[in-house]
Amino acid sequence: MKTDLGLKFESLHEKENIFSGNLPLNGTPIAQKYAGHQFGQFNPDLGDGRAHLLAEVISPDGERYDIALKGSGKTPYSRGGDGRAWLGPILREYIVSEAMYNLGIPTTRSLAIVSSGEAVYREVKMPGAIITRIAKSHIRIGTFQWFAAISDIKNLKILLDYSIKRHYPDASSTAEFLRAVSFNQARLVAEWMRVGFIHGVMNTDNCLISGETIDYGPCAFMDEYNPDKVFSSIDKYGRYSFSNQSKVIIWNLAQLASALLMLHGDDQNTLEIFQEIINETSKYLSQEYYAQFASKLGIVTPDEKDKRLVDDLLKILAGETADFTNFFSKITNDEKPFKFMMKTAYLTWEKKWQNRVKNIPDAKPTMRQANPVIIPRNHIVEKAIQSALSGDFEPFYSLNEALQKPYDYKGQCNFLNAPKEDEKVTATFCGT
Ligand code: AMP
Ligand code: MG
Repeated sequence: MKTDLGLKFESLHEKENIFSGNLPLNGTPIAQKYAGHQFGQFNPDLGDGRAHLLAEVISPDGERYDIALKGSGKTPYSRGGDGRAWLGPILREYIVSEAMYNLGIPTTRSLAIVSSGEAVYREVKMPGAIITRIAKSHIRIGTFQWFAAISDIKNLKILLDYSIKRHYPDASSTAEFLRAVSFNQARLVAEWMRVGFIHGVMNTDNCLISGETIDYGPCAFMDEYNPDKVFSSIDKYGRYSFSNQSKVIIWNLAQLASALLMLHGDDQNTLEIFQEIINETSKYLSQEYYAQFASKLGIVTPDEKDKRLVDDLLKILAGETADFTNFFSKITNDEKPFKFMMKTAYLTWEKKWQNRVKNIPDAKPTMRQANPVIIPRNHIVEKAIQSALSGDFEPFYSLNEALQKPYDYKGQCNFLNAPKEDEKVTATFCGT
């Protein structure tokens, strides 16, 4: 996304009032209805319970974007909730979504945060806040599931046609749409894994048709590499653990396929076509995953044998509980700061890797583009938020600034260290 949305305001006062939900922007705001599978259970009762879509804008580069507020109050879908959000999670969404954008990974973005000046009651009294979220659209897998759940075929078809027009104009059939969405989502998950991101709440209502990352709740970047890593306090069984993300997205896309199948009267032939697309997506995701990890090792065009190279390394890293980000940024710099890098298992692997890359002229630039130096680490994000909550926003601003250049191998930066034992943040919360 280009930074310029082409928005113009008469005054600062008008701008503040729009982003705090006191003034409309080009018409009446709306709340969207959706359904979705939450941790595998279908819930028809979802929707924007604390978000308002203010407007769509066409940016100067011709892209259509949604401008939405989150934490802006009750809607018809709030059910028992207050429709509000508090400053902590709002600052977190800002930091992590903008970091994701700067990492080059498709995501909704954060345009503004406004303190509401009102108290929000959670376990204790918290300062209320509203975030302005920009997205290519807010159409979710769960939006399709809603119309399928109520057997509203007419509106399901309208939603499909609209989604195709808005996001996949080249798709000329339901199957082509399903394939395009599926491949985008598969690529997205492979990109997340490249940077050690754990979304934490990959419910079908948190998966956008556009293929952008959405819903920065209990998400986190891992410090130590552990394929089973889970941060979210509500993910008791590890459904959305780091490595499960590649399986869960396929399951989610199968839910989209089954909603779309309704448009074809559950026809057997279409069912088989859709099943084939889901199978292809699974293969594509595996290929993308290995391509992403191969690029972290400087391999530009990976072949079958490179899978083994990647798997063997990850096994070593998991056994050594090595810091994921720092390991890859250090090998990019030819540094060996970890003790395990002198052990036989690693040295044997290293020899194989060096043989593989020695004749690849672009190995180093490829690694520099695939291995971030800086990620928003939990303990650093937490510190920045805590300090902002007590009135000092400086750490929040300097962290955001550093996160703007995640692949800058030349710059100086204060936020690179893995947490010490007593600094580790092991659990994250939806917490809004
Ligand atoms: P999420 O955890 O953001 O995916 O939200 C799950 C569902 O809970 C959605 O339908 C939200 O709109 C709803 N929800 C979350 N927080 C609130 C709140 N403070 N007030 C009303 N609804 C909420
Ligand atoms: Mg959500």
